[in-house]
Amino acid sequence: MAHLRFAVLTSGGDAPGMNAALRGAVREAHALGHVVMGVQRGYYGLIQDEIHQLSNRDVSNILQRGGTFLRTSRCPEFATVEGRVKAAETLRAHAVDALIVVGGNGSLTGAMALAEHWDGQLIGLPGTIDNDLYGTDETIGYDTAVTTALEAIDKIRDTADSHERYFLVEVMGRDAGFIALQVALGGGAEEVLVPEETPDFPAMLARLQKGKKAGKTSSIIVVAEGAYPGGAQAVAQELHKLGGDEYRVSVLGHIQRGGTPTARERLLATRLGAHAVRAAIAGETGKMVGIIGSEMVLVPFADAVGKKKPLDPDLLALARRLVGVS
Ligand code: ADP
Repeated sequence: MAHLRFAVLTSGGDAPGMNAALRGAVREAHALGHVVMGVQRGYYGLIQDEIHQLSNRDVSNILQRGGTFLRTSRCPEFATVEGRVKAAETLRAHAVDALIVVGGNGSLTGAMALAEHWDGQLIGLPGTIDNDLYGTDETIGYDTAVTTALEAIDKIRDTADSHERYFLVEVMGRDAGFIALQVALGGGAEEVLVPEETPDFPAMLARLQKGKKAGKTSSIIVVAEGAYPGGAQAVAQELHKLGGDEYRVSVLGHIQRGGTPTARERLLATRLGAHAVRAAIAGETGKMVGIIGSEMVLVPFADAVGKKKPLDPDLLALARRLVGVS
């Protein structure tokens, strides 16, 4: 079997578990007799030739850390043909056979575009807290982001209960409501707003007021940032205009991005990283590794970034039945 020269990079928004994925890929490649190069700062490092060989030691003691030890970037230059031509030259100069890209929708779209300038193998790993990539049940970073948001909501719940207040909690999710839905169910929220559905404020207010009449003294409403233009702040104004109470708004923001990856995250990322290496060895290219059920799968880039992953309708229906129930 030929020895492959791999390169790995992380790109776009950082996500907890990226380190575990890098470690999984590096160690699996070495275990199978291949060489791995690490590219610093995503596509920027590829254009700037920031690339060096990685040993097993280089990826020790990173599994449990959030962020990415290779660092990441948003790189507008890579979105141009000239930028991608430079990136391809770097890959050729280092005789790279296969590039593993860990990132979200933008990064995998970039990988697809790179294929026009470079004939090496390209394998993607879903690295985004938003869980908005098609063809995988879960993305790297999602479980940790949900866990972090849930911890915050539990704390807000204590205050809401003690002071008899109504809270609107904004969680990440510009285009997808995965985090919001999961957090609303896990945190026992009274309402949840997701980008996939148009909010019905009068109906929502009626439910909240009904709960209040029945003796409910506090409520938590989870709002995905993209559920309504202006996010939770704007939702508070809409409810107030309709005669609702004063709503406290808490925007969780960037705290959802970092932090120690959960046990489930580490296992998922490790498996995905190792599978990316095996996929390349098997001759695959132009695909993202995902997980469906407990199986590793390969999804063409065009599907991963082009198709819309729907919210689980059963989960959404369950949330609708359980929210607003005193
Ligand atoms: P994410 O991967 O987290 O979705 P971005 O959308 O910021 O993050 O994308 C990360 C990087 O991927 C961009 O800075 C750019 O270098 C590259 N990229 C994104 N979209 C494209 C595209 N359409 N063509 C080429 N490169 C792209």
